[in-house]
Amino acid sequence: MAFTETFTDGNALAGPLREIFALEMTSADGRCVTCGRTGPVADLRVYGHENGPGLVARCPGCEEIVLRLVVTPERVWLDLRGLVSLAVIR
Ligand SMILES: [Zn+2]
Repeated sequence: MAFTETFTDGNALAGPLREIFALEMTSADGRCVTCGRTGPVADLRVYGHENGPGLVARCPGCEEIVLRLVVTPERVWLDLRGLVSLAVIR
């Protein structure tokens, strides 16, 4: 794929991202940044705080954090920096 000097803003991602995040995400395969393990999101070890708005998911292979999710009344924060990739089945 060749890249050009022209670009559009992030609104060009609206359609593709809407499609991805509307799909079943627990069957998506994530690849851990730390150990390279690949497996479904459903296999992650999820920890949460009793009264807190956030969840932390750790890799079952190395215990490093691969995903953080915080849901507030105004926003949803999703941090995927612990994953190299996330392959979602269409
Ligand atoms: Zn890992």
